Amino acid sequence: TRKFVVGGNWKMNGDQGQAKQIIETLKSAQLDPNVEVVIGVPAIHLFLAKELAAGKLGIAAQNCWKVAKGAFTGEISPAMLKDAGIEWVILGHSERRTIFKESDELVAEKVSHALDEGLKVIACIGETLEEREAGKTEEVVFRQTKALVAAIGSRWSQVVLAYEPVWAIGTGKTASPQQAQDVHASLRNWLSSNASPDVAESVRIQYGGSVTATNAKELAACPDIDGFLVGGASLKPEFVDIVNANL
Ligand code: 13P
Repeated sequence: TRKFVVGGNWKMNGDQGQAKQIIETLKSAQLDPNVEVVIGVPAIHLFLAKELAAGKLGIAAQNCWKVAKGAFTGEISPAMLKDAGIEWVILGHSERRTIFKESDELVAEKVSHALDEGLKVIACIGETLEEREAGKTEEVVFRQTKALVAAIGSRWSQVVLAYEPVWAIGTGKTASPQQAQDVHASLRNWLSSNASPDVAESVRIQYGGSVTATNAKELAACPDIDGFLVGGASLKPEFVDIVNANL
């Protein structure tokens, strides 16, 4: 059985006051005890979030670099995250891939190094609208995951996959439960042959892309959807209802 895991990806949003407010709201809410909650906060708020969460919420960085230290101006290493008490990092988000031109190879190198350092990784994959319309969804998602399989090796227990169709991110166009379930199931099937049947069965696959309190229940009911990665709605009180989608 896979424990449901809901991530909140704040992206580049929120000042200290808002960060505090969101975390206090989550801490005082009745959250489903069977759900693991992880919030991905801007790097500058990591310490604050860690302190305020007081062990009640997982905290994730939204990116990190692929080596431990050195002349990489502007970057943060997994070792630094660990040193700050941060356990999770989101890697390969479509905004990193698209805006910051991160390739499958770079994402894989980052994942590998983050796992070396003992971080848990939310690794993101997903096709663009153009790719979906060209019938290439599986091809793209399998290609992205193939790079990850090599990087992860035997360390799948430290990894959560997030399927985020790019056309559904920030657009209000959620994948239908059937569309999401289809990709999750075929991904699991692919993993069975290309990683192992055990990995396919045990790895948690989140859905991300315009998840709201309104559509979360129906998505959560799909057998191969094991959680969400939530953007916009993770900044709002409705995030509590998304965490509690199974109740
Ligand atoms: P939205 O929920 O705002 O569509 O963002 C999804 C996302 O990119 C989470 O990582």
